[in-house]
Amino acid sequence: MDYYLTEEQKELVSTARAIANEHIKPVRQKYDAEGTFPQDIVKILGEAGLFGVYIPEKYGGRGMGVFELVLIVEELSKVDAGIALALAATALGAYPILLGGSDEQKARFLAPLATGEKIAAFGITEPESGSDPISLATKATKDGDFYILNGAKCFITNGGEAQINTIMAVTNKGRGARGISAFVVEKGTPGFDFGKKENKLGIRASVTRELLFDDCRVPKENLLSREGWGLILALKTFDATRPGVAAQALGIAAGALNETMAFATTHIESGETVASRQGIQHRLADMATEVEAARALLYATARMVDEGKVRTTKESAMSKLYASDVAMRVTSEAVRLFGDRGYLHDYPVEKMMRDAKITQIYEGTNQIQRNEIGLALIKEAASAA
Ligand SMILES: Cc1cc2nc3c(=O)[nH]c(=O)nc-3n(C[C@H](O)[C@H](O)[C@H](O)COP(=O)(O)OP(=O)(O)OC[C@H]3O[C@@H](n4cnc5c(N)ncnc54)[C@H](O)[C@@H]3O)c2cc1C
Repeated sequence: MDYYLTEEQKELVSTARAIANEHIKPVRQKYDAEGTFPQDIVKILGEAGLFGVYIPEKYGGRGMGVFELVLIVEELSKVDAGIALALAATALGAYPILLGGSDEQKARFLAPLATGEKIAAFGITEPESGSDPISLATKATKDGDFYILNGAKCFITNGGEAQINTIMAVTNKGRGARGISAFVVEKGTPGFDFGKKENKLGIRASVTRELLFDDCRVPKENLLSREGWGLILALKTFDATRPGVAAQALGIAAGALNETMAFATTHIESGETVASRQGIQHRLADMATEVEAARALLYATARMVDEGKVRTTKESAMSKLYASDVAMRVTSEAVRLFGDRGYLHDYPVEKMMRDAKITQIYEGTNQIQRNEIGLALIKEAASAA
Protein backbone atom coordinates (compact mmCIF):
# COMPACT_ATOMS: atom_id res chain seq x y z
CA MET A 1 0.00 0.00 0.00
CA ASP A 2 1.09 3.56 -0.60
CA TYR A 3 1.03 5.71 2.53
CA TYR A 4 2.14 8.80 0.59
CA LEU A 5 5.30 9.46 2.57
CA THR A 6 7.08 12.76 1.98
CA GLU A 7 10.57 12.75 0.46
CA GLU A 8 12.02 13.40 3.92
CA GLN A 9 10.11 10.46 5.42
CA LYS A 10 11.23 8.19 2.56
CA GLU A 11 14.81 9.25 3.20
CA LEU A 12 14.48 8.39 6.91
CA VAL A 13 13.12 4.95 6.04
CA SER A 14 15.96 4.28 3.63
CA THR A 15 18.58 5.45 6.18
CA ALA A 16 17.11 3.17 8.87
CA ARG A 17 16.84 0.26 6.40
CA ALA A 18 20.46 0.68 5.28
CA ILE A 19 21.73 0.71 8.89
CA ALA A 20 19.57 -2.31 9.73
CA ASN A 21 20.87 -4.33 6.79
CA GLU A 22 24.51 -3.23 6.79
CA HIS A 23 25.23 -2.90 10.50
CA ILE A 24 22.58 -4.79 12.47
CA LYS A 25 21.86 -7.90 10.41
CA PRO A 26 25.46 -9.20 10.56
CA VAL A 27 25.59 -8.94 14.38
CA ARG A 28 22.02 -9.64 15.50
CA GLN A 29 22.67 -13.32 16.28
CA LYS A 30 25.78 -12.42 18.30
CA TYR A 31 23.89 -9.86 20.41
CA ASP A 32 21.00 -12.28 20.87
CA ALA A 33 23.32 -15.07 22.02
CA GLU A 34 25.41 -12.86 24.32
CA GLY A 35 22.57 -10.68 25.61
CA THR A 36 24.79 -7.60 25.56
CA PHE A 37 23.93 -3.96 24.90
CA PRO A 38 24.73 -2.77 21.32
CA GLN A 39 26.71 0.39 22.14
CA ASP A 40 28.36 0.43 18.68
CA ILE A 41 25.00 0.38 16.89
CA VAL A 42 23.60 3.09 19.19
CA LYS A 43 26.52 5.27 18.08
CA ILE A 44 25.73 4.63 14.39
CA LEU A 45 22.02 5.43 14.91
CA GLY A 46 22.97 8.62 16.77
CA GLU A 47 25.37 9.76 14.05
CA ALA A 48 22.65 9.20 11.44
CA GLY A 49 20.38 11.58 13.40
CA LEU A 50 17.74 8.91 14.08
CA PHE A 51 17.50 9.48 17.84
CA GLY A 52 16.28 13.05 17.43
CA VAL A 53 13.48 12.80 14.86
CA TYR A 54 10.64 13.65 17.26
CA ILE A 55 12.60 16.25 19.27
CA PRO A 56 11.98 19.90 18.29
CA GLU A 57 14.74 21.62 16.30
CA LYS A 58 15.05 24.15 19.11
CA TYR A 59 16.46 21.35 21.30
CA GLY A 60 18.74 19.85 18.68
CA GLY A 61 16.29 17.42 17.10
CA ARG A 62 14.78 17.19 13.62
CA GLY A 63 11.40 18.62 14.54
CA MET A 64 9.29 15.76 13.22
CA GLY A 65 7.02 13.52 15.29
CA VAL A 66 5.68 10.15 16.36
CA PHE A 67 4.95 9.11 12.77
CA GLU A 68 8.62 9.42 11.80
CA LEU A 69 9.66 7.65 15.02
CA VAL A 70 7.29 4.82 14.10
CA LEU A 71 8.78 4.57 10.58
CA ILE A 72 12.29 4.23 11.98
CA VAL A 73 11.38 1.74 14.72
CA GLU A 74 9.49 -0.40 12.20
CA GLU A 75 12.48 -0.54 9.83
CA LEU A 76 14.99 -1.37 12.55
CA SER A 77 12.65 -3.96 14.12
CA LYS A 78 12.31 -5.79 10.80
CA VAL A 79 15.89 -6.85 11.46
CA ASP A 80 16.25 -6.71 15.26
CA ALA A 81 13.62 -5.41 17.67
CA GLY A 82 15.95 -5.70 20.67
CA ILE A 83 18.47 -3.32 19.13
CA ALA A 84 15.67 -0.99 17.93
CA LEU A 85 14.48 -0.80 21.52
CA ALA A 86 17.51 1.25 22.64
CA LEU A 87 16.05 4.02 20.46
CA ALA A 88 12.35 3.36 21.19
CA ALA A 89 12.86 3.23 24.98
CA THR A 90 14.82 6.47 24.79
CA ALA A 91 11.68 8.03 23.31
CA LEU A 92 9.72 6.58 26.25
CA GLY A 93 12.10 8.29 28.70
CA ALA A 94 12.14 11.51 26.66
CA TYR A 95 8.41 12.03 26.14
CA PRO A 96 7.55 13.05 29.72
CA ILE A 97 10.26 15.73 29.40
CA LEU A 98 8.89 16.81 26.04
CA LEU A 99 5.34 16.96 27.39
CA GLY A 100 5.94 18.30 30.89
CA GLY A 101 9.41 19.81 31.02
CA SER A 102 10.22 23.53 31.24
CA ASP A 103 12.22 25.17 28.46
CA GLU A 104 15.34 24.89 30.59
CA GLN A 105 14.73 21.17 31.31
CA LYS A 106 14.09 20.45 27.63
CA ALA A 107 17.30 22.21 26.58
CA ARG A 108 19.31 20.40 29.28
CA PHE A 109 17.94 16.88 28.90
CA LEU A 110 16.61 16.58 25.33
CA ALA A 111 19.59 18.02 23.44
CA PRO A 112 21.98 15.14 24.30
CA LEU A 113 19.18 12.62 23.60
CA ALA A 114 18.58 14.15 20.15
CA THR A 115 22.13 13.30 19.07
CA GLY A 116 22.25 9.89 20.73
CA GLU A 117 25.14 11.14 22.91
CA LYS A 118 22.95 10.07 25.84
CA ILE A 119 20.06 7.62 26.00
CA ALA A 120 17.03 7.56 28.29
CA ALA A 121 14.97 5.16 30.38
CA PHE A 122 11.50 5.36 31.90
CA GLY A 123 10.75 3.85 35.29
CA ILE A 124 7.25 3.26 36.60
CA THR A 125 7.13 -0.52 37.22
CA GLU A 126 8.00 -1.82 40.70
CA PRO A 127 8.17 -5.32 42.19
CA GLU A 128 4.61 -4.89 43.54
CA SER A 129 3.21 -2.41 41.04
CA GLY A 130 2.83 -3.14 37.33
CA SER A 131 -0.57 -2.72 35.72
CA ASP A 132 -1.85 -0.59 38.58
CA PRO A 133 0.47 2.42 39.04
CA ILE A 134 -1.59 3.81 41.94
CA SER A 135 0.12 1.20 44.11
CA LEU A 136 3.62 2.65 43.57
CA ALA A 137 5.85 2.50 46.66
CA THR A 138 8.92 4.50 45.58
CA LYS A 139 8.78 7.71 47.61
CA ALA A 140 10.08 11.20 46.90
CA THR A 141 10.22 13.37 50.02
CA LYS A 142 10.88 17.09 49.74
CA ASP A 143 13.94 18.27 51.68
CA GLY A 144 14.86 21.91 50.98
CA ASP A 145 16.14 22.19 47.41
CA PHE A 146 16.03 18.42 46.92
CA TYR A 147 13.68 15.47 46.73
CA ILE A 148 14.95 12.34 48.50
CA LEU A 149 14.04 9.21 46.52
CA ASN A 150 13.80 5.80 48.17
CA GLY A 151 12.59 2.58 46.55
CA ALA A 152 13.18 0.34 43.55
CA LYS A 153 12.05 0.11 39.95
CA CYS A 154 12.22 -3.21 38.12
CA PHE A 155 12.30 -4.37 34.50
CA ILE A 156 13.58 -1.04 33.24
CA THR A 157 14.61 -1.00 29.59
CA ASN A 158 17.99 0.73 29.01
CA GLY A 159 18.47 0.49 32.81
CA GLY A 160 22.08 1.12 33.76
CA GLU A 161 22.97 2.35 30.25
CA ALA A 162 20.69 5.41 30.28
CA GLN A 163 22.14 8.66 31.56
CA ILE A 164 18.66 10.28 31.68
CA ASN A 165 16.06 8.39 33.73
CA THR A 166 12.46 9.57 34.02
CA ILE A 167 11.15 8.17 37.28
CA MET A 168 7.66 8.11 38.78
CA ALA A 169 7.57 8.39 42.57
CA VAL A 170 4.97 9.09 45.24
CA THR A 171 5.07 12.61 46.68
CA ASN A 172 1.73 12.43 48.49
CA LYS A 173 0.35 8.96 49.24
CA GLY A 174 -3.02 10.32 50.38
CA ARG A 175 -3.74 11.86 46.97
CA GLY A 176 -3.69 8.56 45.01
CA ALA A 177 -3.29 9.18 41.26
CA ARG A 178 -2.65 12.90 41.99
CA GLY A 179 0.08 12.02 44.49
CA ILE A 180 2.60 10.72 41.93
CA SER A 181 5.30 12.97 40.50
CA ALA A 182 7.84 12.62 37.68
CA PHE A 183 11.56 13.29 38.13
CA VAL A 184 14.61 13.18 35.93
CA VAL A 185 17.32 11.24 37.72
CA GLU A 186 20.72 11.41 36.08
CA LYS A 187 23.11 8.48 36.11
CA GLY A 188 25.81 9.18 38.67
CA THR A 189 23.47 10.88 41.18
CA PRO A 190 24.56 9.67 44.66
CA GLY A 191 22.13 7.07 46.02
CA PHE A 192 21.10 5.91 42.50
CA ASP A 193 22.33 2.43 41.66
CA PHE A 194 21.49 -0.54 39.45
CA GLY A 195 20.45 -4.03 40.41
CA LYS A 196 20.19 -7.29 38.56
CA LYS A 197 20.30 -7.44 34.77
CA GLU A 198 17.49 -9.72 33.58
CA ASN A 199 18.13 -12.79 31.40
CA LYS A 200 15.28 -12.77 28.87
CA LEU A 201 13.40 -14.91 26.35
CA GLY A 202 13.64 -12.31 23.57
CA ILE A 203 14.82 -8.76 22.76
CA ARG A 204 18.06 -9.96 24.31
CA ALA A 205 20.14 -7.09 22.89
CA SER A 206 18.04 -4.78 25.04
CA VAL A 207 19.18 -4.36 28.63
CA THR A 208 16.51 -4.71 31.35
CA ARG A 209 17.58 -3.84 34.89
CA GLU A 210 16.47 -2.80 38.34
CA LEU A 211 16.97 0.83 39.35
CA LEU A 212 17.64 1.34 43.06
CA PHE A 213 17.17 4.55 45.03
CA ASP A 214 18.66 4.79 48.48
CA ASP A 215 18.36 8.31 49.92
CA CYS A 216 18.97 9.55 46.38
CA ARG A 217 19.05 13.37 46.42
CA VAL A 218 17.47 14.74 43.26
CA PRO A 219 17.59 18.55 42.76
CA LYS A 220 14.12 20.11 42.83
CA GLU A 221 14.89 21.53 39.36
CA ASN A 222 14.49 17.94 38.06
CA LEU A 223 10.80 17.70 38.97
CA LEU A 224 8.83 17.61 35.71
CA SER A 225 5.71 19.73 35.45
CA ARG A 226 4.24 20.04 38.98
CA GLU A 227 4.04 17.85 42.03
CA GLY A 228 1.21 15.36 41.55
CA TRP A 229 1.23 15.51 37.75
CA GLY A 230 3.48 12.49 37.19
CA LEU A 231 0.83 9.91 36.39
CA ILE A 232 -0.94 12.25 33.98
CA LEU A 233 2.39 12.80 32.22
CA ALA A 234 2.97 9.04 32.11
CA LEU A 235 -0.46 8.38 30.60
CA LYS A 236 -0.01 11.14 27.99
CA THR A 237 3.41 9.68 27.25
CA PHE A 238 1.87 6.25 26.58
CA ASP A 239 -0.49 7.81 24.02
CA ALA A 240 2.63 8.87 22.09
CA THR A 241 4.81 5.82 22.76
CA ARG A 242 2.41 2.85 22.50
CA PRO A 243 2.49 3.44 18.73
CA GLY A 244 6.25 2.88 19.12
CA VAL A 245 5.61 -0.55 20.65
CA ALA A 246 3.15 -1.24 17.83
CA ALA A 247 5.93 -0.26 15.40
CA GLN A 248 8.27 -2.79 17.01
CA ALA A 249 5.58 -5.45 16.66
CA LEU A 250 4.81 -4.46 13.07
CA GLY A 251 8.51 -4.48 12.20
CA ILE A 252 8.96 -7.95 13.69
CA ALA A 253 5.91 -9.28 11.79
CA ALA A 254 6.97 -7.65 8.51
CA GLY A 255 10.52 -8.94 8.98
CA ALA A 256 9.23 -12.48 9.58
CA LEU A 257 7.04 -12.22 6.48
CA ASN A 258 10.03 -11.08 4.38
CA GLU A 259 12.12 -14.01 5.64
CA THR A 260 9.27 -16.43 5.00
CA MET A 261 8.71 -15.20 1.44
CA ALA A 262 12.43 -15.54 0.68
CA PHE A 263 12.44 -19.07 2.09
CA ALA A 264 9.13 -20.24 0.62
CA THR A 265 9.94 -19.05 -2.91
CA THR A 266 13.40 -20.67 -3.03
CA HIS A 267 13.30 -23.75 -0.81
CA ILE A 268 12.55 -26.89 -2.85
CA GLU A 269 10.56 -29.82 -1.40
CA SER A 270 9.63 -32.79 -3.63
CA GLY A 271 10.70 -30.90 -6.73
CA GLU A 272 8.74 -27.67 -6.13
CA THR A 273 9.09 -24.56 -4.02
CA VAL A 274 7.17 -24.43 -0.75
CA ALA A 275 5.30 -21.34 -2.01
CA SER A 276 3.99 -23.11 -5.11
CA ARG A 277 1.40 -24.98 -2.99
CA GLN A 278 -1.92 -23.23 -2.71
CA GLY A 279 -2.39 -24.12 0.97
CA ILE A 280 0.88 -22.33 1.72
CA GLN A 281 -0.14 -19.34 -0.43
CA HIS A 282 -3.30 -18.97 1.67
CA ARG A 283 -1.22 -18.84 4.84
CA LEU A 284 1.11 -16.27 3.28
CA ALA A 285 -1.93 -14.26 2.17
CA ASP A 286 -3.29 -14.15 5.73
CA MET A 287 0.11 -13.09 7.12
CA ALA A 288 0.50 -10.30 4.54
CA THR A 289 -3.07 -9.05 5.07
CA GLU A 290 -2.65 -8.88 8.84
CA VAL A 291 0.68 -7.05 8.54
CA GLU A 292 -0.85 -4.46 6.22
CA ALA A 293 -3.90 -3.97 8.45
CA ALA A 294 -1.62 -3.44 11.47
CA ARG A 295 0.40 -0.90 9.48
CA ALA A 296 -2.68 1.01 8.29
CA LEU A 297 -4.07 1.29 11.84
CA LEU A 298 -0.69 2.29 13.25
CA TYR A 299 0.16 4.93 10.63
CA ALA A 300 -3.30 6.52 10.96
CA THR A 301 -2.87 6.60 14.75
CA ALA A 302 0.64 8.06 14.62
CA ARG A 303 -0.54 10.81 12.28
CA MET A 304 -3.41 11.52 14.68
CA VAL A 305 -0.99 11.78 17.62
CA ASP A 306 1.08 14.30 15.68
CA GLU A 307 -1.98 16.37 14.77
CA GLY A 308 -2.38 16.80 18.55
CA LYS A 309 -6.05 17.75 18.33
CA VAL A 310 -7.44 15.02 20.58
CA ARG A 311 -6.14 12.44 23.06
CA THR A 312 -5.41 9.17 21.22
CA THR A 313 -5.56 6.81 24.21
CA LYS A 314 -8.02 4.49 22.45
CA GLU A 315 -6.28 4.49 19.05
CA SER A 316 -2.80 4.11 20.56
CA ALA A 317 -4.02 1.15 22.64
CA MET A 318 -5.72 -0.40 19.57
CA SER A 319 -2.52 -0.08 17.53
CA LYS A 320 -0.41 -1.78 20.18
CA LEU A 321 -3.00 -4.47 20.88
CA TYR A 322 -3.54 -5.36 17.24
CA ALA A 323 0.06 -5.13 16.02
CA SER A 324 1.43 -7.18 18.92
CA ASP A 325 -1.15 -9.94 18.44
CA VAL A 326 -0.37 -9.92 14.71
CA ALA A 327 3.35 -10.17 15.51
CA MET A 328 2.74 -13.29 17.62
CA ARG A 329 0.51 -14.91 14.98
CA VAL A 330 2.77 -14.06 12.02
CA THR A 331 6.02 -15.10 13.69
CA SER A 332 4.64 -18.44 14.88
CA GLU A 333 3.25 -19.05 11.39
CA ALA A 334 6.71 -18.18 9.99
CA VAL A 335 8.32 -20.78 12.27
CA ARG A 336 5.74 -23.30 11.07
CA LEU A 337 6.33 -22.51 7.37
CA PHE A 338 10.09 -22.90 7.77
CA GLY A 339 9.38 -26.45 9.01
CA ASP A 340 12.18 -28.09 11.00
CA ARG A 341 14.52 -25.22 10.09
CA GLY A 342 12.19 -22.73 11.75
CA TYR A 343 13.11 -24.20 15.11
CA LEU A 344 16.86 -23.64 14.66
CA HIS A 345 18.92 -20.65 15.78
CA ASP A 346 20.53 -20.78 12.29
CA TYR A 347 17.39 -19.19 10.80
CA PRO A 348 16.05 -15.82 12.00
CA VAL A 349 12.36 -16.60 12.55
CA GLU A 350 12.59 -18.34 15.94
CA LYS A 351 14.26 -15.22 17.34
CA MET A 352 11.51 -13.06 15.84
CA MET A 353 8.90 -15.21 17.59
CA ARG A 354 10.76 -14.79 20.89
CA ASP A 355 11.12 -11.03 20.31
CA ALA A 356 7.42 -10.61 19.46
CA LYS A 357 6.13 -11.79 22.85
CA ILE A 358 7.23 -8.75 24.81
CA THR A 359 5.16 -6.40 22.64
CA GLN A 360 2.03 -7.95 24.21
CA ILE A 361 3.39 -7.21 27.68
CA TYR A 362 5.22 -3.91 28.14
CA GLU A 363 3.77 -0.38 28.23
CA GLY A 364 0.68 -2.10 29.58
CA THR A 365 -0.26 -5.70 28.82
CA ASN A 366 -2.83 -6.30 26.11
CA GLN A 367 -5.46 -6.84 28.84
CA ILE A 368 -4.74 -3.29 29.99
CA GLN A 369 -5.01 -2.03 26.37
CA ARG A 370 -8.42 -3.73 26.16
CA ASN A 371 -9.44 -2.02 29.42
CA GLU A 372 -8.44 1.37 27.94
CA ILE A 373 -10.32 0.72 24.69
CA GLY A 374 -13.38 -0.53 26.57
CA LEU A 375 -13.44 2.56 28.80
CA ALA A 376 -13.13 4.86 25.81
CA LEU A 377 -15.98 3.08 24.01
CA ILE A 378 -18.26 3.48 27.03
CA LYS A 379 -17.38 7.19 27.31
CA GLU A 380 -18.07 7.69 23.61
CA ALA A 381 -21.40 5.87 23.91
CA ALA A 382 -22.35 8.01 26.93
CA SER A 383 -21.52 11.26 25.16
CA ALA A 384 -23.42 10.17 22.02
CA ALA A 385 -26.54 9.33 24.09
C1 LIG B 1 11.52 -6.90 28.98
C2 LIG B 1 10.70 -5.93 29.76
C3 LIG B 1 10.96 -4.56 29.65
C4 LIG B 1 10.21 -3.64 30.39
N1 LIG B 1 10.54 -2.30 30.31
C5 LIG B 1 9.95 -1.44 31.18
C6 LIG B 1 10.37 -0.07 31.26
O1 LIG B 1 11.25 0.38 30.51
N2 LIG B 1 9.79 0.73 32.19
C7 LIG B 1 8.83 0.29 33.05
O2 LIG B 1 8.37 1.06 33.87
N3 LIG B 1 8.38 -1.00 32.97
C8 LIG B 1 8.91 -1.87 32.08
N4 LIG B 1 8.50 -3.18 32.02
C9 LIG B 1 7.41 -3.62 32.88
C10 LIG B 1 6.12 -3.86 32.12
O3 LIG B 1 5.58 -2.65 31.63
C11 LIG B 1 5.16 -4.59 33.08
O4 LIG B 1 5.69 -5.89 33.25
C12 LIG B 1 3.75 -4.67 32.56
O5 LIG B 1 3.15 -3.39 32.56
C13 LIG B 1 2.87 -5.63 33.36
O6 LIG B 1 3.00 -5.42 34.73
P1 LIG B 1 3.25 -6.66 35.71
O7 LIG B 1 4.31 -7.50 35.10
O8 LIG B 1 3.46 -6.17 37.08
O9 LIG B 1 1.92 -7.49 35.61
P2 LIG B 1 0.69 -7.48 36.64
O10 LIG B 1 0.13 -6.10 36.76
O11 LIG B 1 1.13 -8.16 37.89
O12 LIG B 1 -0.36 -8.38 35.87
C14 LIG B 1 -0.31 -9.81 35.87
C15 LIG B 1 -1.35 -10.30 34.88
O13 LIG B 1 -2.64 -9.83 35.26
C16 LIG B 1 -3.25 -9.10 34.21
N5 LIG B 1 -3.99 -7.94 34.77
C17 LIG B 1 -3.55 -7.07 35.70
N6 LIG B 1 -4.48 -6.13 35.96
C18 LIG B 1 -5.52 -6.40 35.13
C19 LIG B 1 -6.79 -5.80 34.93
N7 LIG B 1 -7.17 -4.70 35.60
N8 LIG B 1 -7.62 -6.34 33.98
C20 LIG B 1 -7.25 -7.45 33.30
N9 LIG B 1 -6.07 -8.07 33.47
C21 LIG B 1 -5.21 -7.56 34.36
C22 LIG B 1 -2.09 -8.63 33.34
O14 LIG B 1 -2.50 -8.42 32.00
C23 LIG B 1 -1.12 -9.80 33.46
O15 LIG B 1 -1.48 -10.80 32.53
C24 LIG B 1 9.18 -4.10 31.25
C25 LIG B 1 8.90 -5.47 31.33
C26 LIG B 1 9.65 -6.38 30.62
C27 LIG B 1 9.35 -7.84 30.76
